Amino acid sequence: MRVVIVGSGFAGSILARVARVAGHDVTLVERGSHPRFALGESSTPLAAIALERLAARYGLDDLHALAACGRWSARVPELRRGLKRGFTFYRHARGRRFDNDQSNRNRLLVAASPNDAVADAHWLREDVDAFLVQRAEAAGVRYLDRTVLDGLERRAGRFHPSGARRGAAVRLEADLIVDASGPGGFLARQLGLETALPRGALRTGLVYGHFRGVQPLRRVAGAGAAFPAGPYPDELAAVHHLLDEGWMYELTFDHGVVSTGFVIEGAETWRSIAERPPAHAFHALTRRYPSLAAQYEAASPVRPVAAMARLQRRSSRAAGEGWALLPHVLQFWSPLFSTGIAWSLLGVERLGLLLEGGAGPAAAGGDRLTAGLERYDALLRSEADHLRRLIEPAYRRRDDFAAFDAWVQVYFAAASFSEARQRLCPAPRECGGEWAWSGFLGATDPVLVRIVAEADRFLDQRPREPLLGAMRDLIAPRNLAGLADPARRRLYPADLDALVAAAGLLGLTTDEIRAGLPRLRGEPVAGD
Ligand SMILES: Cc1cc2nc3c(=O)[nH]c(=O)nc-3n(C[C@H](O)[C@H](O)[C@H](O)COP(=O)(O)OP(=O)(O)OC[C@H]3O[C@@H](n4cnc5c(N)ncnc54)[C@H](O)[C@@H]3O)c2cc1C
Repeated sequence: MRVVIVGSGFAGSILARVARVAGHDVTLVERGSHPRFALGESSTPLAAIALERLAARYGLDDLHALAACGRWSARVPELRRGLKRGFTFYRHARGRRFDNDQSNRNRLLVAASPNDAVADAHWLREDVDAFLVQRAEAAGVRYLDRTVLDGLERRAGRFHPSGARRGAAVRLEADLIVDASGPGGFLARQLGLETALPRGALRTGLVYGHFRGVQPLRRVAGAGAAFPAGPYPDELAAVHHLLDEGWMYELTFDHGVVSTGFVIEGAETWRSIAERPPAHAFHALTRRYPSLAAQYEAASPVRPVAAMARLQRRSSRAAGEGWALLPHVLQFWSPLFSTGIAWSLLGVERLGLLLEGGAGPAAAGGDRLTAGLERYDALLRSEADHLRRLIEPAYRRRDDFAAFDAWVQVYFAAASFSEARQRLCPAPRECGGEWAWSGFLGATDPVLVRIVAEADRFLDQRPREPLLGAMRDLIAPRNLAGLADPARRRLYPADLDALVAAAGLLGLTTDEIRAGLPRLRGEPVAGD
């Protein structure tokens, strides 16, 4: 089959290689060239699982290396990355230095891994994406960089994208065309897909950059601010600073560069900030929070500070006959919770499965592919809705750290339950025995979907205090990680004892779960 993939971010390049391994004729089209800067850097355990599955299924050892920070540093040290042990949250008060006490009034740490070796990584996308496109070429993918496609015709059941490369006309033919162009949205435009942003949806803009010389918050916080020892050093994480205007992320790379972005909520607030050039807007924002100002006082940008007016987008469909959008084309909502890499890899896995065994003429595997694309479309759209339901309530509660803390427990329950289930249990029949077809972050798990709806209602009405204890009751059927425990004082390690104690939630005995624990670290156990 002829497969054309538009866009060579990591997702397009990995899919191109997977399709090639499955025996297809693959063309990967990129309007720019590598190496190039890209946002979307902080990976998660669900991304690691998808990478490991792709590595095992298609013999792509490099993806296995990228799935854990220890393997990455040992096997592809030339690709820059940052150690990511978890998720750190701070609540700041405008005009005052960051303050905190022993109960972590304004601080929350949730570990995503038990140690550095199996931890996640922040991906320096410039390096990772360039590496993956080279790997795709080495696998026999035809790679056309600096190619601008501006036309798409459909004739005799095939797509014919056309455009130009370095002044010469380009005409391609595709039995399947995949849009991996992220915000570029090539197919969405060519097919005239409607945008499906709900009325009143979250609206955020972004001011961002990469910096050297950033001080960790711990060194510059208020004199009396306490930082009781947590499960990992605060800054080796995706760090979230909650602010009146929105929030700021910080991702620290091992070579000392920090990726920082202010996510600003609301059209009015955005206008008032974005009326200045991005670098001025960045400094104006840090000056409102003295500890942030101190963090960035001696920092210098390694690339120009830039801005994006609106992050949210949503297309009405994800796939149809002979075409598909990768997740990051269908929807982007927010960098909060770092969901993008894992979701994109799930999309790659699913399309890879659909392309298996269909290397002959289009008609041979056509019906199966068409049915598969319908399933892909429905699943991706329901996941997009689910992601919004997980993310938007966090924005609504960021002014009140107790309510925010209570809400994020729902997200971490969804993430840790999905991770442990996929690592420790066989894929259920409704997924056709493939975990890739299970709903992202519990999107198709009725229990989790109910928990999300009830937790949101509960926090709106607040019929019970304290919130955290009540949230613990609500998330109990999906709480494998000892979450929402007031005794933890907002410091959550990766707690294997809690997991073993909750074995029954996965339908396992404590012996079964103990025997499977190596799998949590991506290691096989006897019989795998
Ligand atoms: C501010 C921000 C922060 C984020 N943070 C995180 C995070 O911390 N963790 C996380 O997991 N996710 C994050 N994401 C999401 C993450 O960026 C995406 O999930 C990820 O980039 C998707 O990868 P991709 O390969 O599908 O697309 P992209 O990375 O968007 O790559 C698309 C490629 O297509 C090319 N292209 C575009 N248009 C065309 C065209 N017409 N023709 C040919 N080529 C084209 C582009 O040049 C680019 O190379 C973030 C996103 C944003 C916006």
